[in-house]
Amino acid sequence: MPQRRSAQKAGGQQTPSTISERGDESAAEPIEPGWGSKPARPAPGLYLVATPIGNLRDITLRALDVLGNADLIACEDTRVTARLTTRYGLTTKRLPYHEHNAERMRPHLIERLKAGAVVALVSDAGTPLISDPGYKLVRAAIAEGIAITALPGASAMLAGLVLSGQPSDRFLFAGFLPPKTVARRRDLGEVAAMRATLIFYETGPRLAASLADMADILGSRPAAVARELTKLFEETRRGSLAELAAHYHEAGPPKGELVVVIGPPEEPEEAADAGDTLDAALVAAMATMSLKDASEAVATATGRKRREVYQRALILNGKAP
Ligand code: SAM
Repeated sequence: MPQRRSAQKAGGQQTPSTISERGDESAAEPIEPGWGSKPARPAPGLYLVATPIGNLRDITLRALDVLGNADLIACEDTRVTARLTTRYGLTTKRLPYHEHNAERMRPHLIERLKAGAVVALVSDAGTPLISDPGYKLVRAAIAEGIAITALPGASAMLAGLVLSGQPSDRFLFAGFLPPKTVARRRDLGEVAAMRATLIFYETGPRLAASLADMADILGSRPAAVARELTKLFEETRRGSLAELAAHYHEAGPPKGELVVVIGPPEEPEEAADAGDTLDAALVAAMATMSLKDASEAVATATGRKRREVYQRALILNGKAP
């Protein structure tokens, strides 16, 4: 991380750059009087700056300090970043850095950094590098011994996770799944056994088909679709994967941006417990009903698949291997 230090303002006035450098923090003046009163030039280096995922007020004071005082902002799309910089009256020069020009721009940015520039990297929304460009620039900067720091902030994956109601202690963010169903089902198969909440980015037009594949490959799991987070029409819809797939199949593609969060597979003990419960219910039902009727009744009562319950009843009755 670049060393923070007092910096020379354009007008020649020395201003401390961090709260701890202010000396007397108990002074009557508010500690954060506003980002505009913050000091000028940050220390040279690469700053990975998170920007809002919708609501332009979701930006940190420190991000505004750096964006306003960097030598340049490397943007995924300079027009998108202009909405943010214009909103906050920042006039810092913006340069495009995206997947189509990255190979050409990276050496240029590295040269600027080696010469002591302050470069802020942003993406169109959220945290750069998270399903967005920047990873190779960071790697190149590390290789050159350039100071790097991250300015944390919004990311749709974390907002979706914390809204989902699914366990948040252990999760796998898997980005976008492939658009074609064969590759998508293969990728889902690779993560199916992970004992972790799964987070995917997805698009509205592909959502119903993706959810159907998820339900098929991952089985019956609780999930959430978090849409338009921090925006006017924010919505989080929760249900089993099959329920969500059916909903979006019927309702059609939702508008806007979205995150899919899926709960982990049942714990083995829970699965065993569930198996015990199923067996007990079947044995009790078969005491008074035919095997077929008992399976029917238990499937309805437990919400399990009819075929699965029937197969289990056959085994319990000694009619299947
Ligand atoms: N770097 C970004 C981040 O940190 O979240 C993600 C960039 S990725 C190219 C864009 C995807 O993020 C969208 O297709 C959508 O899946 C998700 N996303 C971005 N903003 C969102 C929002 N406001 N609500 C829900 N999902 C969002």
